[in-house]
Amino acid sequence: KELLRISRIEDPHLLKKALAELERSFDRDEDIKEGIEGCIGNTPLIRIKSLSEATGCEILAKAEFLNGAGNSPKDRVALSIIQMAEEKGILTPHSGDTIYEGTVGSTGISLAAICRARGYKAHICMPDDMAIEKSELLLKLGAEVERVRPAPIVDQNQFVNLARTRAAEHTANPNKPGKGLFADQFETEANWRAHYTGTGPEIYDQTGGRLDAFVSGAGTGGTISGVALFLKKRLPQLRVVLADPPGSGLYNRVKFGVMFDPKEKEGTRRRHQVDTIVEGIGINRVTHNFEVGRELVDDAIRVTDDQAVAMARWLVENDGIFVGSSSAVNCVAATKLAKQLGPGHRIVTLLCDSGARHLSKFWANREVGGSENDVSLDQILTCKRDSSLL
Ligand code: PMP
Repeated sequence: KELLRISRIEDPHLLKKALAELERSFDRDEDIKEGIEGCIGNTPLIRIKSLSEATGCEILAKAEFLNGAGNSPKDRVALSIIQMAEEKGILTPHSGDTIYEGTVGSTGISLAAICRARGYKAHICMPDDMAIEKSELLLKLGAEVERVRPAPIVDQNQFVNLARTRAAEHTANPNKPGKGLFADQFETEANWRAHYTGTGPEIYDQTGGRLDAFVSGAGTGGTISGVALFLKKRLPQLRVVLADPPGSGLYNRVKFGVMFDPKEKEGTRRRHQVDTIVEGIGINRVTHNFEVGRELVDDAIRVTDDQAVAMARWLVENDGIFVGSSSAVNCVAATKLAKQLGPGHRIVTLLCDSGARHLSKFWANREVGGSENDVSLDQILTCKRDSSLL
């Protein structure tokens, strides 16, 4: 209004001054985030130049590791779970309430950071074969951490079951302050909705609605379902493709409608029995968050550990992108899909977390990150265990 008024006065000096002031005020609004919660979402979409050039497709990756609380897409989910519980009056900041969660790490780290910011306690149950830096980080963030042996979901001591039990114990104990909430990322609506209202619309806006395929791994399934539910409504032709690591049943769920391919039954190793170094994706049970979008998943691509390791090295050496295991799996699957579709297509995937969170396991497992790289993409996409590439 002020600008309009000044423009009518037709004084260039006044106009220039008012414009500068307006610019400064915009800068002020845009540059200040409301705590770490304000740094969640609106992550950049990056063109991965090396993969795009090599395939003739545009391979774009949403840099979810740049979410500013726990540095993964789980920031969106943790905030969504907490906000929903606060709106329902289930959680009250600074009242001693404790959030319990079973997680392989990322969701716990996001919850622990946001809990600190909002005056809650976090109690995290996780498998003890995850990279040690994740539980170290959780402790530094002030969470209570219980590491348990990996076990099937029917086992009461399985990490998700244990978290549910701990929340119930809290509620039943009158001496514990506040309430105990089981966050329940695998089953809660708050998970896929965070991607339906955040990740999906952001991808649509950032690409101007111009994309041919979306590729993602699934742990809870919240990401792939939430993004697919949003994007497919607007882009019915979009191909949604699951990237699946060793030991996961989701590939068979998408391809054959069952968790275990009958042909494979004998030899199938369950997720918790497989010595995969990929963390955060792949599962052997049907979760609400995967099922809510499953019919929108058109295809699945398997990715081996070796392909993921080689891709992680490729991304550092060619693009300076240093990511963890699930991001590498996503990029292998996106590149395989680019080869299937042929040049000229646009594929969006996710970079979930940083390689820094995988130094002791994924990045330590093999001689990755060496200086020379004369490995071709085709070699990466087909490499097997014991390959001379690794
Ligand atoms: N990447 C990482 C590092 C994760 O921890 C997870 C979730 N456990 C995922 C990807 C998969 O996301 P979602 O749970 O939404 O399927």
